[in-house]
Parts: sequence; C-alpha cells; structure tokens
Amino acid sequence: MSRLDNDVVLTLNRIWQPIATTGLRKAMNMVFRGRARVVDADTFQIFTWDQWLAEKAVAADNHVIERDYLRTATLFVRKPQVVTLARYAGYPNRGVPYSRRGVYERDSGRCQFCLEHVRKKDMTVDHILPQSRGGRTNWTNCVLACAGCNHRKADRLPHEVGMKLVREPFQPTREQLLLQGVDVPAAWRPFLDA
Ligand SMILES: [Zn+2]
Repeated sequence: MSRLDNDVVLTLNRIWQPIATTGLRKAMNMVFRGRARVVDADTFQIFTWDQWLAEKAVAADNHVIERDYLRTATLFVRKPQVVTLARYAGYPNRGVPYSRRGVYERDSGRCQFCLEHVRKKDMTVDHILPQSRGGRTNWTNCVLACAGCNHRKADRLPHEVGMKLVREPFQPTREQLLLQGVDVPAAWRPFLDA
C-alpha cells in the first residue's frame, strides 16, 4: 500500500481555494467519511465516493494507465487528484503567519547561506538583522540556516562576516508554502493562482 502515500491530492476548502496537499490515503479517507468530495479536474463535477466509483471505475481486465488508477480485486478506480472539503469554508489569508516551520518550507530545507540541506530537527533560524540590534522575527528578516552558518554569522550582518544570502527572504503566500517541494500535477493547475 505504500504507493498510496506517494500520491498527493490537492485539498480545496468548500469554496475551492487550495488549503493543503494531502496523501491519497488520507484524502480518500475524508471522502469515505463524507468530509470531502472528489473533484473531477477535467469537468469540475463533484462526486461522493459512491458516485466516483459508479463513474470512474472499470473492471480490472481493462487496460488502463496503471499509475492513474487504484487496483482492487475486481476494479480499477481512477485515483482522485483533487478533493473539496464538505464543510470548511474558512478563507486562507493571503498573508501566512510567520512560523519556523514555514521558514523551513519556504527555504526548501536549505541553508540560505551555503545551500546545505538541513534536517528539520537540526534547523536554526537566522535573523539577518540580529535580534540584539533590534531585528524582528518575521518572514523578511528570518532565514533557514545550518548550525555552522548560524554560528559563524552570530550577532553580525552577513556582509560583516563575508557571508551572502542565496536569496532575499520574502513573505510567502499560503499557496507557495503548500506547493513547496511538490511536483504539481497538470490536474491541479485550474485550482491554483497563476
Ligand atoms: Zn549553511
């Protein structure tokens, strides 16, 4: 069943704004339990699980593109790619609140000075303008740093120690954060901002 976990489903709120990427197993679970519906990314029709089975399953002796289907004993069922939550209509703010985890996602798990990959548990957040000089904890003053670079920079500005940021830090949108590091399938495009 591990293949189920390699497939990622775009989760929309009730008014079709992208709010999360979800493993296929979890997304299907939400649909089974009536908490979400499947969205057909071609026709924009929505389906309960029973409706999806009725429309999007074929007998297992058919030829299908296997990666697009789940195989049961007797059926190939088209894998859902997009689901919409039945109840939650919360509006995801454009401005995502600052968080350490968000810094990690925005910076793709790479130290913003040396580009070294940093494990989540080893991450440090570097304040570009150090806190000791009044630097704030926010999206534009904080970057992911490896322990070595953070230690080397310490309470100084990057140029004071001959260091350089690989990219200016920025305030990410929720969509940028949720799509970070995800291979975006074509089926999701109509549901995403340009
Ligand atoms: Zn580094």
